Amino acid sequence: MTDAVFPVPEEWAKEALIDNATYLEKYQRSVDDPDGFWREEAQRIDWIEPFGTVKDTSYDKDDFHIKWFEGGKLNIAANALDRHLETRGEQTAIIWEPDDPSEDGRTLSYRELHAEVCRFANVLKANGVEKGDRVTVYLPMVPEAAIAMLACARIGAVHSVVFAGFSPDALAGRVEDCQSNIILTADEGLRGGKPIPLKANVDAACEKVPVDTVIMLKRTGANVPIVEGRDVDWAEAVAAASAECAAETMDAEDPLFILYTSGSTGKPKGVLHTTGGYAVWTSMTQEYVFDYQPKADGSMPVYWCAADVGWVTGHSYVVYAPLINGATQVMFEGVPNYPDHSRFWNVIDKHQVEIFYAAPTALRALMREGDEYVTRTSRKSLRLLGSVGEPINPEAWDWYHRVVGDRRCPIVDTWWQTETGAAMITPMPGATDLKPGSASRPMFGVKPALLDAEKGTILEGAAQGALVITDSWPGQMRTVYGDHQRFFDTYFSQYPGYYFTGDGCRRDEDGYYWITGRIDDVINVSGHRMGTAEVESALVAHELVSEAAVVGMPHEIKGQGIYAYVTTNAGVEDSEDLRAELVKWVRKEIGPIATPDVLQFAPGLPKTRSGKIMRRILRKIAEDDTGNLGDTSTLADPSVVDDLVANRAQNK
Ligand code: ATP
Ligand code: MG
Repeated sequence: MTDAVFPVPEEWAKEALIDNATYLEKYQRSVDDPDGFWREEAQRIDWIEPFGTVKDTSYDKDDFHIKWFEGGKLNIAANALDRHLETRGEQTAIIWEPDDPSEDGRTLSYRELHAEVCRFANVLKANGVEKGDRVTVYLPMVPEAAIAMLACARIGAVHSVVFAGFSPDALAGRVEDCQSNIILTADEGLRGGKPIPLKANVDAACEKVPVDTVIMLKRTGANVPIVEGRDVDWAEAVAAASAECAAETMDAEDPLFILYTSGSTGKPKGVLHTTGGYAVWTSMTQEYVFDYQPKADGSMPVYWCAADVGWVTGHSYVVYAPLINGATQVMFEGVPNYPDHSRFWNVIDKHQVEIFYAAPTALRALMREGDEYVTRTSRKSLRLLGSVGEPINPEAWDWYHRVVGDRRCPIVDTWWQTETGAAMITPMPGATDLKPGSASRPMFGVKPALLDAEKGTILEGAAQGALVITDSWPGQMRTVYGDHQRFFDTYFSQYPGYYFTGDGCRRDEDGYYWITGRIDDVINVSGHRMGTAEVESALVAHELVSEAAVVGMPHEIKGQGIYAYVTTNAGVEDSEDLRAELVKWVRKEIGPIATPDVLQFAPGLPKTRSGKIMRRILRKIAEDDTGNLGDTSTLADPSVVDDLVANRAQNK
């Protein structure tokens, strides 16, 4: 199945913005003449003052700097709102779908969103927020989250969004790290029918790291304690605020936001993005990756990126890029399995969504529940599907394509990182023949390369190695907040002259890129280097398996052995027979070298709040080194770990 190729459907090749010939021509130009290419692409943004130099960057240790569009002045919130007022003021910008489908949703036109953002920008100012100040946003997926972010951008404040599911400790750590004096929150969040005590979490965080101001939105109306002199009621403050607020003139290189990475590999890093390059880069990628253009009747297709604004995907592909591009989009408060496993597909039918973008972790969880939840819905409106966050294993890709998309919708598997701002390696639906499991080819202006992980030498042609990017692109992060040295050390020191992604990757004969997982996750069994993603894909391809995580473990003879954690489908009985069958299955699928040495059934896997498997914890358990599990503050459900540790003991 991994050899399958899905050619570009004819109507896509004809009607898409980018067909294959255009892709090839444009890509070549973008790397041969980056200055000319980006000068042109930057015209998609309204600049208050034009930039001079397009690109001024060096990864060299002694002359390390990254600057794009210097001298240019703009306001990104004005690009997302003000400039649309004349042409699409009454067009719906956001269709808000609440957690509980029986609750009324909300729609905001560009004009309404603009007014709300201006009002809230004035509220921030009235509470002492100035240009350059860091504002912590700890809000659920309600329109006010986008309003808050855009209001910060409007006045030049730097937002630091913390996912509204993180613990008080994780919140306090982030508030402290970026020295933020204000937190925007809600009384409670709602996810899957369950209240999340956001205000209580803020209060607990403030015991450790006090702030001057907390602005609280009433989402559920829960009875929460109010701290006099610190807490401000959102609605009251907004009601008193004017809907006029001039947008601050920002330099292209002024900071826009700080966002902490998921912490899959270690302590989260405060990734800092700036304004001009990010605006150009995110909006360009959203247009091309999702072929986002007006329909024949002039209306905009309904677009839905299901990511939370707490992640970079929510920043780039919910808040900034779609609004800059004048999209009509769904913003979803809930979860995929509430009230039942049809929710995504019901929302798609309800709002006639044409473009849908989600994470493999959610897809695998839904796939596990069987096809009926999908097939009972129509999904006729869908035209394009997207995936982000992890390698999508071919099994899940096939399900997404066949069951969700009725074989009709191309899938754009977008590889990128918090650090990269937007999609770096990705198909474009009108241009790219798809290979399930491959993120395919580079975005315009992106120069990927594979290095021999040990020697650091460039590998040509079909090869497997460490994925680096050899030159800068406009939406690249500019620093780790407060620790520029860490920025250089983390990304530019290991392979001098390159941006090191931390990911392993294979390139095939057609020049397609296949992310094999984190480079730290490569296992070396008797001298054979293997990406963990490959073994995981083989396991998940078994009909009774829903999810798998594979790590290396010390092995006397082989150097490293393979330790596999396996979650079976709902209703499947874990047994010794099944264990033996799965081991045999991997042997058959990949070869004897990939035979798991230990296979542990795991009712749940340790995941970050963004749904990524934390393999470093699984490695520790496999190595029987459970005394020091490292930073676990971003774990979704810490109790999963206790269960795995307990069962590890039984394995021996
Ligand atoms: P941390 O850097 O703190 O360990 P993280 O890397 O999980 O956290 P993100 O920036 O959210 O934080 O995730 C980026 C990573 O996700 C990539 O480096 C890659 O490993 C993985 N990834 C994202 N999209 C894809 C994709 N389409 N295919 C394969 N891997 C992907
Ligand atoms: Mg990372």
